[in-house]
Amino acid sequence: MTKVYVRVAHQENVAHAELVGTEAKILSGAPWNGGQPTGAVLTLTGLYDERLRTPVDPSKILCVGRNYAAHAKELGNDLPTEPMICFNPPSALLSPGGDIVLPPRDVSEKIEHEAELAVVVGKRLQRASEAEAAEAVFGYAVACDVTARDLQKKDGQWWRAKGMDTFCPLGPSVVRGVDVSDVRIQCHVNDTLRQDGRTSNMIFSIPRVLAYVSRVMTIEPGDLVLTGTPEGVGPLTAGDHLVIEIQNVGRLSVRVAGAMA
Ligand code: ZN
Repeated sequence: MTKVYVRVAHQENVAHAELVGTEAKILSGAPWNGGQPTGAVLTLTGLYDERLRTPVDPSKILCVGRNYAAHAKELGNDLPTEPMICFNPPSALLSPGGDIVLPPRDVSEKIEHEAELAVVVGKRLQRASEAEAAEAVFGYAVACDVTARDLQKKDGQWWRAKGMDTFCPLGPSVVRGVDVSDVRIQCHVNDTLRQDGRTSNMIFSIPRVLAYVSRVMTIEPGDLVLTGTPEGVGPLTAGDHLVIEIQNVGRLSVRVAGAMA
């Protein structure tokens, strides 16, 4: 059965909740940690209620680079022979309804969207098999891996390119109990279709990526893995409206704020 989870500001804290229609049923903890209904219920105005936060509060965010052949090709890169992993800091997360903030132009002049399926891990994984990793997936969310393409090339490593504040919009919800093995990922900017891919075109499967990471690093419940972007990445500029839709998972809508002085 499909279940939908959010995090919502509640009594001066942020609480996990199960969303049923517009009712957020507050949980005692994260659903992947056994959180149970407390009986408190908030009625939301929808998935962009201003009380909503990112649906996950991860200890780390892992990102898979070049996981779709056509995207690797559009940037002139060879196909990886092993999963290519980088980190986004949790400080880069942006709540649904928030604004992506562009850096000053002397830092970067080429900010691009990467529409991605995000995996929420529900169990601790250490040196896991692919079967164990598959079983540990809690659910899925929509994410954008915003990237300063010029810095990605210039810096060699990607901490600035992908790690800026607001560069990881996520949500609005986590969906559990859906099949994402072959679903459509679309990204529109100002109503123009930019990306239109299918998850079945991933080079490395989700269990493969999780097992690969867990050989060297513990993945904690609530950690997030962004699974790579299909082809069609392109520029974001001040005032843009970005909508990423993943079939069976949801629709993430964010705006790009004006550049900082
Ligand atoms: Zn990416």
